[in-house]
Amino acid sequence: MAWNIVIAGGGFAGANAARELEKQLPRQSSRLILVNDVNFLLYTPLLPEAAAGTLEPRHVVTPLRDILHRTNLRLGVVDGHDRDSRSVTVRSHTGETDQIAYDHLILAPGSISRFLPVPGLTEHAVGFKSLADAIYLRNHVIETLEMANATEDSSLRDELLTYMFVGGGYAGLEALAELQDFAADAMQHYPKARLHGMRWILVEAADRVLPEIDRELADYAVAELTSRGIDVKMGTTLEEVTATSARISNGEEIPTRTVVWTAGVAPHPALRNLAVPLDERGKVIVDSRLAVEGMEGVWALGDAAAVPNPAGGVCPPTAQHAVRQAPVVANNVAAAIGIGHSREFTYEGGAAFVNLGRYKAVGKIGDRKFSGFKAWWLARSYHMSQIPGLPRKIRAVIDWTASLPFSRDLSEVGSIGRPGVLSPDRYARGGSHRPVEGELPAAGRDRDQAGKDSGSEDS
Ligand SMILES: Cc1cc2nc3c(=O)[nH]c(=O)nc-3n(C[C@H](O)[C@H](O)[C@H](O)COP(=O)(O)OP(=O)(O)OC[C@H]3O[C@@H](n4cnc5c(N)ncnc54)[C@H](O)[C@@H]3O)c2cc1C
Repeated sequence: MAWNIVIAGGGFAGANAARELEKQLPRQSSRLILVNDVNFLLYTPLLPEAAAGTLEPRHVVTPLRDILHRTNLRLGVVDGHDRDSRSVTVRSHTGETDQIAYDHLILAPGSISRFLPVPGLTEHAVGFKSLADAIYLRNHVIETLEMANATEDSSLRDELLTYMFVGGGYAGLEALAELQDFAADAMQHYPKARLHGMRWILVEAADRVLPEIDRELADYAVAELTSRGIDVKMGTTLEEVTATSARISNGEEIPTRTVVWTAGVAPHPALRNLAVPLDERGKVIVDSRLAVEGMEGVWALGDAAAVPNPAGGVCPPTAQHAVRQAPVVANNVAAAIGIGHSREFTYEGGAAFVNLGRYKAVGKIGDRKFSGFKAWWLARSYHMSQIPGLPRKIRAVIDWTASLPFSRDLSEVGSIGRPGVLSPDRYARGGSHRPVEGELPAAGRDRDQAGKDSGSEDS
């Protein structure tokens, strides 16, 4: 008899669980199916570097088919679960649905950005969670520099050269640090913009940043950022966003055309359709063996699960935890099938690094703290050991090495993947590479239009 094992989600948790199961279960007695909505694993810790152009965007993803050898990859989403018949519903990108029976089901759909009802947020802010977000932001920052250099209007320059990030977790803090470092280097090519000066702001509701890591290292990262002139506003919230401004809780109205929303994550909403017990935040309730409470043969891990943290509470939503939970869930599925013994998740965290720009980072291993190039190099070595797949490791090292002697690449290639309409009118309107009308990012819209947008917000 062959056991059917279905894994929902191919990120750090799900893909690594599949790889471990491939090692631990005999081929002839197990069938592994991984359902994921894209055919690659996004290595998020390096996403800020893709945004800053230090790494090629494609080099921060690993094709799942390269690292999975006998797992059947199904592109689609798991959006239904029948506990009685022990089957899940898989919806493919073509819209077709399929019932797949399982003996063991592993839930690892990760998380999404946490949304709050801030007026104007959906219309005028961007997130930072996907490859598309990273590519968009890079092009947007270059475009703001180009426009700020071209205009003679000082208040427009204020809007263009002010960048606000809301939420000081890994995603927000690292993305802000990398992009500010990129823009500071790029400024030498934009003399008028440089004369005006930039403003980078991090807004954080709590009294500290980086809740995922220990406070000492988080404070160390803030000290680095403030020494670079970044304005870190703790205990502050975003109250409203328009196309040209952001209002924060101290009453300040800040002119800006860049608001990046990185205010934490929430468990993937698909979990609500999967008939599993959820805690008050929407995470799947599991025990320290990663078994779902009260359900035989159903397991959960990663950002989607409330995994008891040996250090107290539940594990923070980090790749470090997800990667270390994967072999535990694989081991326990194997044990349930009769191979080996089950074990508990015991990882408490040791080393942590925070990337703050090209050759800049802070880090901590045990009690030792590092900063600057040394921390950056240690962080790179750590990421090299973690990026799945040898080809991706080599490509990333080549990118880092190649960027050493060269200045930053400033090409604004926002039209990639958005071909214009095949029509002579497009050329008649001037240029040949611009996206079709109506698709320009906020920074590129003309001022009157932006004013109208913010006017309609107010009304
Ligand atoms: C910019 C950024 C930087 C970060 N930096 C760090 C860092 O430096 N260190 C660190 O430890 N952590 C970091 N993190 C956090 C880390 O990315 C997450 O903790 C980690 O990705 C969680 O892994 P996961 O497998 O649970 O979820 P994910 O990696 O999000 O994977 C979930 C996968 O499941 C798919 N999926 C969703 N719903 C379904 C469904 N219904 N059916 C099938 N598939 C589905 C998703 O599309 C996705 O591919 C960072 C996060 C971001 C956004």
